[in-house]
Amino acid sequence: MYKKVESPDFVIKKSRNGCGVFTKKDFSASERLFEIHGVFLTCEEDEDLDEETRNNAYRFDKDLFISAPNTVADYVNHSCNPNARVEKIKNKLYMVSLYSIPKGGEVFFDYSTILANDDVWEMKCNCGEQNCRQIVKKFNLLPHKVQKKYISEKIVPQYILDI
Ligand SMILES: [Zn+2]
Repeated sequence: MYKKVESPDFVIKKSRNGCGVFTKKDFSASERLFEIHGVFLTCEEDEDLDEETRNNAYRFDKDLFISAPNTVADYVNHSCNPNARVEKIKNKLYMVSLYSIPKGGEVFFDYSTILANDDVWEMKCNCGEQNCRQIVKKFNLLPHKVQKKYISEKIVPQYILDI
């Protein structure tokens, strides 16, 4: 269900895959883009959700997910070549840029980076990147080379590795 999301820095509009989040200004590398906030759900509740809500929930810790309907966070698309990452800072989740993102650029993160070892969720990928892995699955199942890069560049948040 699409509801207009108001944001001074981002606009939700049509993307390669459904709707995506685009910047309204230039962002530099390692900049906090927005907080991922919403309703906390337990793992059991997450399993009972409709598919769309479930697909868009962010893992928060071992037992909790954040559902962020009608916020910018709800519309960020996956890419196998992301320009943003999820970071937990003082018990809050943020989307943080990896590289500079020019005004008008789409924000992407790699969904695999918030899929912990006990996650079973998978998705076919249509990101169109040269290094596309075709299927999005939990971090531990990614090619070793990708895992190493993501760990060394802190693209995967530590709390996911700790679950
Ligand atoms: Zn892909």
